[in-house]
Amino acid sequence: MKSIKKHLLDGLRLTPVDADEKFSINDKGARIDGAPKKDELLDHTDALLERLTLLQDAFHADGRRALLLILQGRDASGKDGTIRTVCGAFNPTGVHVSSFGVPTATELHHDYLWRIHQVVPALGMIGVFNRSQYEDVLVVRARKLVPKNVWEKRYDHINAFEQTLTDCGVVVRKCFLHVSRDEQRERLQERLADPKKNWKFRIGDLDDRALWDEYSQAYCDVLTKCSTKNAPWFVVPSDSKSVRNYLITRMLVETLEGMDLKYPAMDADVADKAKGFK
Ligand code: ADP
Repeated sequence: MKSIKKHLLDGLRLTPVDADEKFSINDKGARIDGAPKKDELLDHTDALLERLTLLQDAFHADGRRALLLILQGRDASGKDGTIRTVCGAFNPTGVHVSSFGVPTATELHHDYLWRIHQVVPALGMIGVFNRSQYEDVLVVRARKLVPKNVWEKRYDHINAFEQTLTDCGVVVRKCFLHVSRDEQRERLQERLADPKKNWKFRIGDLDDRALWDEYSQAYCDVLTKCSTKNAPWFVVPSDSKSVRNYLITRMLVETLEGMDLKYPAMDADVADKAKGFK
């Protein structure tokens, strides 16, 4: 494993957004100056992923809580890449990934949390959301899909919803994958030039890029109004994929390590009956 100075690695961790602090989103926040290089970080991320595998096993067996990881970010911010990395560590039976696109006609006939609530992970399960309920205060606001008096009530709805989940054993962690404008341009250009990726390109990606400042303001409000003690937001500097993967994996490891996970004791009757089994 490549050695990285201890203080550099110690400092490389996500801290929750403090809702009381003044906060703004700028390109500088998409990078960590002096962060270790990709080849230095890879081994450390792999070690964390191995730890995550063991923790998920215990988490699944323990079964007292669910874990919900919400990933939000602009187009090409790395939501899919994060899911590939993190979920690679999980036993597939214990994880479920849900993606939220433009609501269907059926979904639009319900309240906006309806489609979300249905796929909240059950106890013992990890749920990963690729986009989420936050689209209803992000895209909906930036593109003016509903009037302000409708979307502005949603921060309170969402906070109450997440508190309900917390009270019912769902541990909620939310990551905003923060990419700079230049990095997004490069990634979108790469996507357009790659025949294996350009089928995914939507004209809406360019419309959203043109609304960069509107999205920045919308994200800023989401991060400050909805970062709560039990369901914190983390801003993940994501111009570097290796830094992003390290940071999110570490946060998940630390979240699971904080849960005092226990394998359930064997049922006494079963233990009795199995006595002498050869
Ligand atoms: P992705 O860009 O995440 O890979 P898609 O290409 O399917 O996935 O795009 C999903 C699109 O759906 C995004 O533009 C997103 O903003 C939009 N979307 C998600 N939720 C909503 C919503 N509630 N209202 C309107 N648009 C939404």
